[in-house]
Amino acid sequence: MTEQPARRLLLVHAHPDDESINNGATMARYAAEGARVTLVTCTLGELGEVIPPGLRHLTGAALGEHRRGELTAAMRELGVADFRLLGGAGRYQDSGMMGLPENDDPACFWRADVDDAARHLVEVILEVCPQVLVTYDDHGGYGHPDHIQAHRVAMRAVELAADAGWRIPKVYWNRVPRAIGERAFAQLHADLPGLPFTKSAVLDDVPGVVDDERITTEIDGTAYATAKSAAMAAHATQIDVSGAYFALSNELAQPLFTTEYYELVRGEPGDTRETDLFSGIEGAS
Ligand SMILES: [Zn+2]
Repeated sequence: MTEQPARRLLLVHAHPDDESINNGATMARYAAEGARVTLVTCTLGELGEVIPPGLRHLTGAALGEHRRGELTAAMRELGVADFRLLGGAGRYQDSGMMGLPENDDPACFWRADVDDAARHLVEVILEVCPQVLVTYDDHGGYGHPDHIQAHRVAMRAVELAADAGWRIPKVYWNRVPRAIGERAFAQLHADLPGLPFTKSAVLDDVPGVVDDERITTEIDGTAYATAKSAAMAAHATQIDVSGAYFALSNELAQPLFTTEYYELVRGEPGDTRETDLFSGIEGAS
């Protein structure tokens, strides 16, 4: 058995692009610092809306395959070598936005048995032995069925892995502090006339926004802003990046955060806001 790096971070996401938007700076920073960064993506995002007109012919499995290539390119930008699809490529399909008929497709991730799906993740956990797991809150950040299911599967896998011999000491949910979000949107409104986007999103469109007191941890990824931008731009079917801003297929501008925020939900919080996901972990902080 090869020896594991001292710090091991596992991230669980729903679709290719979510990792770069939510955690791109964090992933780049820890990868550059020598941590083992493992990404598990639950679906290939076959139902995502495609931005570039020249790629809109891609749908279903063809879009999934294309997005797999985008994910590979994004991971190259972040310096992350270990990225996997839950249960292997195509095991779980994109469920589409809440309320769509695709939510009822038996092959979609939303219809997956949580324990079955979690067992695929437990295999990864027992191999990697992460000290830190990052995923979404129980609302999936913003209510997309695949994000909610990724949360359920990740949290269930934490329990099952503990029973099977590896207890993950720290679990975090992705967050954006409300005050930081409000400030970033105020700046966006000031900058909007000079941007290639005509309209701004609103703070409620941003996943995981909570009151500031719930934030336990902030990761300064300013030094990795370029890597995060490049990784997001690699997901060209889904994201249009312009400087400090980006838009999804709705063409509404949003701030691109290079400091990323978290809420510790399992593990011992420090007295002050953490600046390292591994803080307090013996031999890793
Ligand atoms: Zn997603």
